[in-house]
Amino acid sequence: MSDQLERLNRLPLRDNLRGLQPYGAPQLHVPILLNVNENTHGLPEKVRAAIVAAVDEAAAGLNRYPDREFTQLREALARYLGHGLEASNIWAANGSNEVLQQILQAFGGPGRRALSFPPTYSMYPLLASGTGTEYVAGTRGPDFTLTAAAAADAVKRSSANIVFLCSPNNPTGTALGLDVVEAVYDAGAASNAVVIVDEAYAEFAHTGTPSALSLLPGRERLIVSRTMSKAFALAGARVGYLAAAPEVTDALRLVRLPYHLSAITQATALAALEHAGDLLANVEDIKDQRDRIVEELSALGLSPAPSDSNFVFFGGLKDPRAVWQGLLEAGVLIRDVGIPGHLRVTAGTEAETTAFLERLRELV
Ligand SMILES: *Cc1c(COP(=O)(O)O)cnc(C)c1O
Repeated sequence: MSDQLERLNRLPLRDNLRGLQPYGAPQLHVPILLNVNENTHGLPEKVRAAIVAAVDEAAAGLNRYPDREFTQLREALARYLGHGLEASNIWAANGSNEVLQQILQAFGGPGRRALSFPPTYSMYPLLASGTGTEYVAGTRGPDFTLTAAAAADAVKRSSANIVFLCSPNNPTGTALGLDVVEAVYDAGAASNAVVIVDEAYAEFAHTGTPSALSLLPGRERLIVSRTMSKAFALAGARVGYLAAAPEVTDALRLVRLPYHLSAITQATALAALEHAGDLLANVEDIKDQRDRIVEELSALGLSPAPSDSNFVFFGGLKDPRAVWQGLLEAGVLIRDVGIPGHLRVTAGTEAETTAFLERLRELV
């Protein structure tokens, strides 16, 4: 046992945290980072200038606590989402990870059970563990798909209090049909389950892919979570949000820390939302690169999953570790998500994507 681990174990750490490793993809210093699904395009200069001006103005008032209700930001997010949503339907926090944690604090906890369908976002079980919520893993089909019937059955059998659906799913990239969300919601009626649809990558979906936002009216246990980390290229600012019935946001007010969204964060997010058009223009370019990766991987005889996100999950690799290592040696970092025969790559700029594809061609 390492000295550090021994010292940690002498502390009165909660039993369910003993032996755990902190979450995190390796943060290596590599020229081409295609490992954590960040927006590879950076902020347009105009948007950056708008954020700097907004933050400068906010800095003048930093002696005061920020607007605890982040009213302007909720109004702007409601306008951005559309679907007839109002500020009372919106909640935000420091990344959608914090939003998800607050949902578990309010609706999970000891004696409660959360369900998700791996392979999916690896934070769900960690957030459950951190809030003392029991975690149950449902199963997917052999091609990682999830049908409405199978998902509903898992909800009924687990009597879950909280269900996480990730659409488009990370790490597979594929969006769920709304029939799955509807079936899970209906199956959750018996256990009064809160159903969260994590739409972190919604903006990258193929045209015509419906959002679970359209299912919100009349479904007070349904929550749709979004983030500014991906499409809005703001991973470093830490802004995530959700849309739900107003009573859900009232529940979250019971667990949030006072003034949890700093004035700097609110100003940054507002300035970015005012330039949503400029930011989302890059999304189209990223989608082109994503489609190009899917096409070229198929041509190489690999099997990419259909992607509605800014990344591609692909199988058919005999030795994924060697491919990952070979790419790293060429300065391209992608993600080994621990699924046999598979790797995941984020769509880069055109030049980054070309570098990835050229090196991969040599490796397979
Ligand atoms: C990246 C990602 C998020 C975003 O997390 P933030 O805390 O908003 O940066 C949420 N859900 C999934 C599935 C993701 O991949």
